[in-house]
Amino acid sequence: MLFPTLFRLLDRSGLLFAQTVQPPAIMSVSLAFTSEVGHRSPLRSKLAALLLLASGLTAGAQGLLVKNALLITQKPGDEQAYLGYMRVGNEGRITAIAPGDAPAPLPGERVIDASGKFVAPGFISAHSHLFMSPLRGLGHTETLYGWGAAVSRLNNRATAEDLYWFTLHGSLDFLRNGITTAYDFTYSGAVGGQAVGVGEKVPPPSLKPGPFEENQLRAKSDAGLRFINSVGLPRVGTRPEMISRLEGLLAHAKSVYGQNPLYLGMAISGGLQRAPTRETAELEAHVMKTYDLMNQSHFLESPERVEEQQAKFAWYADAGALSPKFIFGHFIQTNPELVRQAAAAGASMSWQPTSNSRLASGVADIVAYRAAGMKVAVGLDDQSCTDISDPFQNLRIGLALIRTKYKSAQALSVREMLYLHTLGSADVLGIADKVGSLEVGKYADFLIVDPRRPDTGPLHDAIATYVLACGLRNLEQVYVGGRLVADGLRLMTQDEARLRREIDDRIARLESEVRALEGRTASLAPHPFAALLNP
Ligand SMILES: [Zn+2]
Repeated sequence: MLFPTLFRLLDRSGLLFAQTVQPPAIMSVSLAFTSEVGHRSPLRSKLAALLLLASGLTAGAQGLLVKNALLITQKPGDEQAYLGYMRVGNEGRITAIAPGDAPAPLPGERVIDASGKFVAPGFISAHSHLFMSPLRGLGHTETLYGWGAAVSRLNNRATAEDLYWFTLHGSLDFLRNGITTAYDFTYSGAVGGQAVGVGEKVPPPSLKPGPFEENQLRAKSDAGLRFINSVGLPRVGTRPEMISRLEGLLAHAKSVYGQNPLYLGMAISGGLQRAPTRETAELEAHVMKTYDLMNQSHFLESPERVEEQQAKFAWYADAGALSPKFIFGHFIQTNPELVRQAAAAGASMSWQPTSNSRLASGVADIVAYRAAGMKVAVGLDDQSCTDISDPFQNLRIGLALIRTKYKSAQALSVREMLYLHTLGSADVLGIADKVGSLEVGKYADFLIVDPRRPDTGPLHDAIATYVLACGLRNLEQVYVGGRLVADGLRLMTQDEARLRREIDDRIARLESEVRALEGRTASLAPHPFAALLNP
């Protein structure tokens, strides 16, 4: 093999670690993208538009050549990292990637010398709730339902405009941490109506007014994050009314974002885990088929009331919802028969190692699921119960959980774990033709990671070092579609000072509202468990 040999030689010679990286050619100013929510002076808006145009020209129109990179492509068959180059075309897609020296730059082409640094695909979070980013540290002594109560206490008061800023916060946090694509469960604006038990009686949910869904779509786009937008089917009104709301959202997304390369499609957020009757499964199966939608459903997550949760599996099976377009979110409290049925139907699952640990939910038996034939994706979940949306940490917690569970260092390899958080997740989400690996034709969503800053030592096995020894502190730059979106801690697409003011002001307002409200309604809880679910 040429490349490992080449790699070893370079490694010994120290050439890999030469620090010759040019500063990014992109403008290092904070840009405020056009936003209906934002209020800026016309002059400032014009300036922002000019800078944005300049940024686009720099990042996209002239193309980009990354040379001397230690490439971790995740392309099937590329088992080892290799030294090479990558070229990005005007459309933000990879036009060439190969070992060896880069060709001469094209006229006007921007060049990044990545000597000594990893260039790897951006991480994919196959399960995220971006709007919960400003709610960290809450409910830290609780499992799922108690934690949910802690965050709902504030979120139930949030407005549609709050949701724009909260989602922007979460999206930018993802980008800065090297997550370039997210499957995002949005918040519909519904309050209450949640039930774990079969037939459990709870007051119906209500729906707050406002463009909640539209604002969350716009926030992700404004941030520069690539995304699948997953919407709920709140049980408010008649079935035709529920379907009509979904149709409106599908039409809106298509008309506004249909040509936006950041937008990778719509999905539905299955709600059976917190719904009391099989009608929910039947409605989800109906819209999956009618509108050809993927469905990711939180299911068998919490270790409480497992028999009641498992009983709902048959509702999905009977409704015909289980298919390759169905993803079980979490899927921890399973049994062999449920796994067999899920795998036989072609359903897959998403695994959230960090949030499952934080919430004491248990360890999803990834080894058993994969052996049964289920595909596995990996997510960061929401930042309120993952706390740091750190994909490197997520890799290592995942490895630690599975290796500890099996008492085997071979139960899950570093390469498998990295695959699950990149191309494997893209495969589950049906977007592997666009993202997940560095290959010609795919979007140039990539990370520059410097294993020598801080120094992690010589590379004995490059991918093992990347997965086991690198972290956010080594993450130097993040690109989406060949465009620099985070340069170290600095965000390139938004004004972070303004974002912080918006978040702080809005959370302070919600807290004061909740304090005033709780003084009046603290004694109205009808049932201890329902009180946790419907605070
Ligand atoms: Zn979740």
